[in-house]
This record gives sequence, structure tokens and C-alpha cells, in this order.
Amino acid sequence: MTTHPIATVHGYPRQGPGRELKRATEAYWAGHATAADLLATAAKLRRDVWQQLAATGIGEIPSNHFSLYDHVLDAAFMLGAVPPRHRAAAPADARPGTPEHMLAVYFAAARGTADVAPLEMTKWFDTNYHYLVPELGPDTVFRADPGKPLTEFAEAKLLGHTTRPVLLGPISFLLLSKPHADAPAGFQPLTLLDRLLPVYAEILADLRAVGAEWVQLDEPALVQDRTPAELDATARAYRDLTALTSRPRLLVASYFDALGEALPVLARTAVEGLALDFTGPAAANLPALASLGGLPGKRLVAGVVDGRNIWTAHLEQALATSATLLGLANHVDIAPSCSLLHVPLDATAERDLDPQVRRWLAFARQKTDEVVTLARGLAEGRDTIAPQLAANRAARDSRATSTLTHDPAVRARCAAVRPEDARRTTPYTERATAQHARLGLPALPTTTIGSFPQTADLRTARAELRAGRIDAAGYRERMAAEIREVIAFQEKTGLDVLVHGEPERNDMVQYFAEQLTGFLTTRHGWVQSYGTRYVRPPVIAGDVSRPHPMTIDWYRCAQDLTDRPVKGMLTGPVTMLAWSFVRDDQPLADTVRQVALALRDEVTDLEAAGAAVVQVDEPALRETLPLRRTAHASYLAWATEAFSLTTSGVRADTQIHTHMCYAEFGDILSAIDDLDADVISLEAARSAMAVAAELATAGYPREAGPGVYDIHSPRVPTTEEITGLLRTALAHLPAERLWVNPDCGLKTRHWAEVRPALENLVAAARAVRATLATPDGGR
Ligand SMILES: [Zn+2]
Repeated sequence: MTTHPIATVHGYPRQGPGRELKRATEAYWAGHATAADLLATAAKLRRDVWQQLAATGIGEIPSNHFSLYDHVLDAAFMLGAVPPRHRAAAPADARPGTPEHMLAVYFAAARGTADVAPLEMTKWFDTNYHYLVPELGPDTVFRADPGKPLTEFAEAKLLGHTTRPVLLGPISFLLLSKPHADAPAGFQPLTLLDRLLPVYAEILADLRAVGAEWVQLDEPALVQDRTPAELDATARAYRDLTALTSRPRLLVASYFDALGEALPVLARTAVEGLALDFTGPAAANLPALASLGGLPGKRLVAGVVDGRNIWTAHLEQALATSATLLGLANHVDIAPSCSLLHVPLDATAERDLDPQVRRWLAFARQKTDEVVTLARGLAEGRDTIAPQLAANRAARDSRATSTLTHDPAVRARCAAVRPEDARRTTPYTERATAQHARLGLPALPTTTIGSFPQTADLRTARAELRAGRIDAAGYRERMAAEIREVIAFQEKTGLDVLVHGEPERNDMVQYFAEQLTGFLTTRHGWVQSYGTRYVRPPVIAGDVSRPHPMTIDWYRCAQDLTDRPVKGMLTGPVTMLAWSFVRDDQPLADTVRQVALALRDEVTDLEAAGAAVVQVDEPALRETLPLRRTAHASYLAWATEAFSLTTSGVRADTQIHTHMCYAEFGDILSAIDDLDADVISLEAARSAMAVAAELATAGYPREAGPGVYDIHSPRVPTTEEITGLLRTALAHLPAERLWVNPDCGLKTRHWAEVRPALENLVAAARAVRATLATPDGGR
């Protein structure tokens, strides 16, 4: 072990500077490239990253952080935990052991085939990355299959790098898994720990045998609230793994929050090192570590540069934290707080940005430079990094004093917000009466969630506008033509509350980000969302305001075509934050309030333009919940205030809708109630209306539209199916408070499915309506 601090990273973006991995993978799927082509591209991307990290001065380079699709899926394959339906999915002509066979099984688990469903996908902690959820049961037989980490270790070794393989740790692997469909009720994957540990032991021994000195075991699940039994399992796992005679040294890594009660548990084990996050809320690791007496005899990898935001670090502060940590472990190395998977590759590629602003940004390459600088400052003294510290200070000063980050008008308006500004003045029951009188809707009113299919024609029009082949007027005419068709279809089908279909929206966050002051959009800032899907999150860099209306023209264009009410459609403030990179120089509660005020102006403009119904979508409300339960209340307080501030400026007879894209909302039900929206639509079709019973049990007092059409599937639901779902819903919710709508927006579907599905939806609503005691359902 060296005595001087070195710099390291937990992981790095996988896609390559030109998203080569995405292109190669999609070419393989389309049959335009062979398995060998794809694997060669992947190997080259790995080599390039290792060489670049070494050239930058990273002292210990990781391996096995690369993935063709997802690192949790890789862990399932490494442990032999592959569902039989995916093992059987390889084509008959692919011989077991060949790359063709391996990739067929791997991608069957990742994406499904015509015959078998893929693994479920869910969010990786509170990031916007999605992992595939391993399926385990009492019959699961683990088997070591360390080919991937061994191959990648050997590849790097050939280049002269002895890397630190990164594996998902056994506790997190089990806690991130779910029981398979045939597992008995109540089965907990963690009960498989004793069966799993010998497989980890075998893999560790194999890695040691080829020369690995350190192996990193990622245990991010330990930063969440854990039960005593789970903490006991953690102690047992690392007692067993450290008792092995032939193994590399073990570095147990945690990130995204502080370890809390898991810190003393891990500190007491014989693992040789811990990697801890010291940024944001995880800064609580520092006092916790101090009160524990540090990590005598152990290595500490100190995550002092935020690995998830895109801002230049405060180098002086990080250096001071690192210097404090030097006294708390036998040896300290410097790293970003987590894998750099969650940030784009290189800020210098953003040539369209003002150079003043660009130097505030640190993507993966810049963060790598920052940890190298910090390690050097610690090892050789701060004089050796004086130029970097000076440049860092200048960048931070320019950000702190910029007119972009400080708009006095926005600040004054935020400061003047009173609690009553975030409350509607009329209670819900009175509003409901006024809204029913204004809208005159039948019982079980039908509507959709907002978007209609984004056709190839629409995407072509956007591309032509970008390329300058059509002008703004030409683009507008193409969109207006689409709106005419969408409105005509809805009228003919008999829907009650119409939408304009959102043909003009490239993305529900980016569309608004491009129009709001304070948001930046990047050209190359791609971040992996899942598999080959990459997103370019906007950056909230400054004070947010709305220089001009954003949706009013489109709303008018649609409403002028029909006598039926058309919904105004907006993305809510919490979702705008959740799917953007946010400022780190002020509390989120301040940023969200600025966004809420900008959106509030849009809501009141929609009302003034004649909208009787305005929908503000908050699909990210639940997914943004902090990892620790103790932090939930303060998050929900500012999140619900932001929604209310957005929507509370309207008259009593203007109906506010909101939409959420999931069914599991038990833990935020009281927050949903606090939103005080008049109508909420939720996903429910796949859970057979369980949502309706939950809303009833919770005494939800307002109107609700639990989805009756699963839009995640190309299947067209029959009138009878939808009728059945509505009857189930009516067993729990009164007819006068029940809406009829799909689970979510229709933009990913095709017209060929949407047309008959919505016709069936309207037919089902009419059929059930006819059986109600009073034809208007008490409206
Ligand atoms: Zn949705």
C-alpha cells in the first residue's frame, strides 16, 4: 500500500464520446452487425477509458464497471441467477458458450423476446438510471460465472494496468432483487445469503489468482434505512468473506447517502477498506466516522467530489475535508462520491455554451481531473496545485456573481411568497360544485393523459426545423395540422375532455426548459437512462423565470376547433427538477419555488385564454423521495408547496388535474392529498384496479381516474375488459368522483392501437354510465 494519497474513480460513462456503444448495440439488434463486432466495439471503449484514466493521473483504475446494458444484470449473470425463461431464449442454432448464445440470453433478460418478458426495470436508488431487477426464489441455484470480471481484468493487465474489479456486493444484490413469480408469498431474497456467499468466495479467489490486489464490492443499499436483521446479515457476509484464505483485499463502497447505522457494522469487519461519500447529505459520514474513532488499520476512499452533479467542485473545501480524513484512517485516497455513470462525458464538448458558464461545469472528464488535483495537493502540498486552486476559485467567483445565478426580480418575487399563496381560496367541495356547473360533464367523464402518438412525420418536422429546411411558420403549420386531426378524432370518438396531443413537445421537461430563463440545454450531455437509452437532462444553472407564455398558442389552436373543453397541459415543478441537473449553490426548495412561480404564470395565462381544465403532471413526485425516511417530510413539504404554488392562482371553477405514472403511492398518499388537485389520474390497469381500493381506504376525497388502458403494451383492451375494470373501481369510488382514462400518455403508442383502444374506452364508459341509478351520477 502506498502511503501517499492517490486518485481513483468507482466507474465511468460507458457509451463512448460518440455514443458508440449505443450504435453498436442497436446495429447488433437490427442484424446489421455480428456479435463479434459488438464485443470488439465494447473492448475498444473499455481500453480507451483505461488509457484515458491512466493518462489523467488516476492512480488506481477500476475494471468491470463497464456494461453492455446494466451492471445489476451483469451481477445476476456472474452469480448464475438467470431465469430459466431467458436461458431458454437463445436461438436453436446458437451453440452454448458462443458469443451469439451469450448475447441472446443476456438481451432476452434485458429486453424480452416475442415470447418471454424481460426482467422488470426500476430506478437505481434516487438517480435517473434504471437497473434490471433480478428474480430469485427458494429454488434459485447460484453458480459462479466470473468470465466478465476476469476477462476485463486481463484486458487491462495487457495494457499494463492492475485494476480494481468492481462487483455489486452480496447484500445489495439480494436487497435489489425481487421474488420471482412462483416464489411463496413473503419470500425474502436476503434469506439466500448463505447460499450466495460461497459463490462470491469462489469469484474472489479467481480474481486473486489472476493478480487482483483489491476488489471493490458496491453496497449502496446500505445507505437506506435497514432493519437489524439486514445489518446482521451484512456483518455475517463480510465476516465470512474476509475469513477466506485466498482473496484480494476488499474495498466496500457506499454512495448516494451516509451509511448511518451500517457504518459501525462495516467498520467492525475485517475488510481492508471502505469507500464513503462525503458530499451533500452524505457529509454526515464525517462526524459519524470521527465519533467512531475512524478506521484504524483500514484504507478510506474518500468521495469528496460530487459524482452526480455537473458543477465544478469547491476544491478548497474538498481539500479541507480530505485533510481532516487523513487523521481518521490508515490511508486515504480521493475519489468522486460515486460512479461517474450519472454525468455526461466532457464539458469541453459544449461549445455552444457561453465559455463563462462552461467553466462552471464538471462532467466525468473534469471530475477525474479534480480528484487527481486533490490527491496531488494532499500528497505533495497545496503549493503544487496552486494554479488549479486559483482557476477553481475564479470559476466559482464568476458563478456566484453572475447575473444568470442572481436575478433580483426573481429573488424578490420568491421572498414575497406567503403561505396562503400556495393554497386555493375555496374548499374542494365548493370548487367541485362550481366546476361541475361550468363543465357540464356526464358521469364517468372520459379523457386522455395528454400526449398522442409521436409519429415519424412529427419527428421529421422537428428535424427539418433544426436543420433549417423548414421555418417556424412551416413547423407550426405541421403541428397545427396534427392538432386538427387529434381533436377531430377525439370528437368523433366521443371523449369528453380533450387534449391537443402535444405534437410540439420533444420531451415533457426539455420542452419547457428550452423556454425558461435559467435553464441550459446541452448538445452532448448524454447520460444513460437504461440500456441503450440516453437522455440529455437540462441544467438549471440560474434563477428561473418565464420570459413569454409557453403553451398558450397550442392550447388556443386546439380549443378554437371544438366546443368541448381542452385541457391545458404542463409539467410540474418537482418533475422539472427531478429530470434536470439542479443547482448546488442554493437549497432545492428555493430552486423549485422559482420554477413553481414561472409555471404559475403559465397556469393563470391558460385560464385567461379560456381553459376550464389545466393538468399539471408530477410523475417524478414519488421517485424523488429521499433515500432515508427521516428526510421524507421536509422533501414532501417543499414538493407539495411547489405544486400548490403552481396551481393555486386559478378560480374555483377552473379544474386542476394532476397525473402520476405509478400505482405504488401508499407512502406518499397524504402528500398527494396535500396537493389539493381536483382530479388525479394514476396507473392502475396492470394492478387490476388495486389503486381504487387504496384510494377508498385512505379516504381520498377528490376525483380520481385510475387507468383502464395499459399503454405500456401494444395490446388493445376490449370494451368488456374496460367495463370490468370500471365496475371494480365503482365498488370503491362513487360514480360522481370517477374518471375514465388510460394509464399514461399515448406518445409511445401507434395510432393503429390507440384508435380502437380509445373507442373501446368510450364505449365501456357509456355502457357503465347507462347502468347508474341517476344518469348524471349525481354530478
Ligand atoms: Zn404517466
